[in-house]
Amino acid sequence: MGIRVSDNIAELQPYPPGKPLEELEREYGISDSIKLASNENPLGSSPRALEAVRIHLENLRRYPDGSGFYLKQRLSRLLGVPQTAIVLGNGSNEIIDLAIRTFVQPGDEVLMSDPTFLVYRLMTQAVGGRPVQVSQKGFAHDLKSMAAAVSSRTRMVFLDNPNNPSGTVISREDFEAFRSQIPADVLIVLDEAYIEFADPELTVSGTEYVDDLPSVITLRTFSKAYGLAGLRIGYGIMPPEVAGYVNRVRQPFNVNSLAQVAALAALDDGQFLQETLQVVREGLAFLYKELANMQLRALPTQTNFLLIDVGGDGKKIYEAMLRRGVIVRAMSSYGLNNYIRISVGKPDENRRFLKALKEVIGETGVRR
Ligand SMILES: *Cc1c(COP(=O)(O)O)cnc(C)c1O
Repeated sequence: MGIRVSDNIAELQPYPPGKPLEELEREYGISDSIKLASNENPLGSSPRALEAVRIHLENLRRYPDGSGFYLKQRLSRLLGVPQTAIVLGNGSNEIIDLAIRTFVQPGDEVLMSDPTFLVYRLMTQAVGGRPVQVSQKGFAHDLKSMAAAVSSRTRMVFLDNPNNPSGTVISREDFEAFRSQIPADVLIVLDEAYIEFADPELTVSGTEYVDDLPSVITLRTFSKAYGLAGLRIGYGIMPPEVAGYVNRVRQPFNVNSLAQVAALAALDDGQFLQETLQVVREGLAFLYKELANMQLRALPTQTNFLLIDVGGDGKKIYEAMLRRGVIVRAMSSYGLNNYIRISVGKPDENRRFLKALKEVIGETGVRR
């Protein structure tokens, strides 16, 4: 007799994470490999954050501050929102999960793009909700069609801005038109995991609406621009009433103490953030130029990653790159079979990626 599990769990396809470096080296018996697959920070972590972690190691026997007081106080000042509007999470992924578990019941619909961050769909399915995916138009959220897809069962809309995997953003105009069409009882979740990399002139942030938008949740993370992916910390900004419900579902010590002190220190390290933005900007300019020389089309991006049309089976390219110690992301799980996604690395990593890609394209004959 087997264990009983509901159909929605049995049918779940687990999230395919970027391959860890250690795993690649173990499996292929190689060393010196590089990973450009999970949009991590090319420069590492803020030195100030690392120092804060070292100091705090003394206190690991204590439970963390379950209210995250100091970090929330700092974020509240920085963003001009009350502390009661902020919920800290074990990565922003946890806030996605919490928001869905708090507000979505079996049979409820959750609206999202296709392609978009896979976690929205998975977490929705995990609670028995129905993910409703609306195809993108020209690699951008098709907000008109999304608004038209709202039904009486729609509880939530996820918009990653910038979008992962395309790197495109939503303009202020388009967002305002969209939100005016969304019923007040439908939560709009703006996932701003890459917003630090985006040109503010071209896009919008949920933080602009905290005072007058009762139904917007904005998600931010320390995993990308702040280089703290391994510590797992992110946050959501939402109306205090919404935060109150989410906090009922949240585990009391969901964010560990090292993550809290590191995030606080990282917010004070403006220099690290500026250096990160610069290395990404320069890396992108270099990569676009070199990819164009190889006759490969790369989508314009407002993030620290880019989507490349390899003109053939991206999975083959991915595997051949692995053998050369370069981890990129195959895009078949997003339905983009002819694409790979790469994160901008340090200059030597970008060069190594290009060299491997040239060899692999010649070898696999995927293109021409
Ligand atoms: C990387 C990423 C996140 C960040 O997740 P964390 O749990 O904060 O590490 C969130 N949303 C999108 C779209 C991402 O690509």
